Amino acid sequence: MIDVISVLGAGTMGHGIAQVAAMAGYQVYLFDIKEELVTRGFNSIKNNLDKGVEKGKVTSEARDKALANIKTTTILSDAASPSNLVIEAVPELLELKRSIFARLDEFCSPSTILATNTSSLSIKDIASSTKRPQQVLGMHFFNPVHIMKLLEVVYTEETSQVTINTTLEISRHLGKEPILVKDSPGFASSRLGITLGLEAMRMLQQGVASAADIDKAMELGYNHPMGPLKLTDLVGLDVRLNIADYLFSTLGSEVFRAPEILRQKVAEGKLGKKSGEGFYKW
Ligand code: NAD
Repeated sequence: MIDVISVLGAGTMGHGIAQVAAMAGYQVYLFDIKEELVTRGFNSIKNNLDKGVEKGKVTSEARDKALANIKTTTILSDAASPSNLVIEAVPELLELKRSIFARLDEFCSPSTILATNTSSLSIKDIASSTKRPQQVLGMHFFNPVHIMKLLEVVYTEETSQVTINTTLEISRHLGKEPILVKDSPGFASSRLGITLGLEAMRMLQQGVASAADIDKAMELGYNHPMGPLKLTDLVGLDVRLNIADYLFSTLGSEVFRAPEILRQKVAEGKLGKKSGEGFYKW
């Protein structure tokens, strides 16, 4: 039975994952490398839940219970040893993730499932740093974690069926809608999402329509909550360029070749909302 979940990394994703796990009634250990980082993560959870109470979406009892379910630590073995499921949400660096998984393998009980929230790295490459690849998979949450319903559960050839089933069950218990995806570049969501985004950029480049009208085509014609160019501005043009280059190099299809307009804007520092301009002015 899974009742203790440890979350590694208390940043944007880690604190959100810890929040939904604590709200779902799990005992949660939130780990980061420095005291101030775990404290910042914990405070973000508290602020989020306080806002939820103000808006009437969360009761004060549920908030207090959730906060009481969370222990913070900067000692990896303290987070790893009591845990039935570890969810890693540290920066997107393969060697960093591999070294953490190798240490987890030592500290965790043999039955513990090890999950990574990577958005692009190969799960197989991460799993091969452990002696338990059958218990390693991806749990790809979306930002903001407490709002976004989707959870990609990413399995490798070695992930066992028991591990997959247990993870799907926990995902639903966390209030998420899991989809099951084979370990492959871009998983399901990024691979499809980037295709639409890149084609929208090519259309803009060719003068087919304005950015606003291309976005409207998807918003009003296909009921997308946000058009692909506006979404790119929110995600960051640099982030999308990196993903496109990675998918082009791994999958080889022309649909992933980054259009010139994207490279040019990134070179000019037009990175989207965060820099004040991308395909739109913010
Ligand atoms: P972030 O930079 O906000 O947080 C990362 C945290 O990890 C930081 O608090 C950092 O101090 C901590 N950290 C660094 N080294 C560590 C170590 N050795 N041990 C433990 N913690 C360590 O990053 P993020 O946006 O939360 O992304 C985390 C992971 O989630 C990445 O793999 C990313 O690709 C993935 N992801 C991000 C998003 C997103 O929208 N931000 C969405 C889905 C998946």
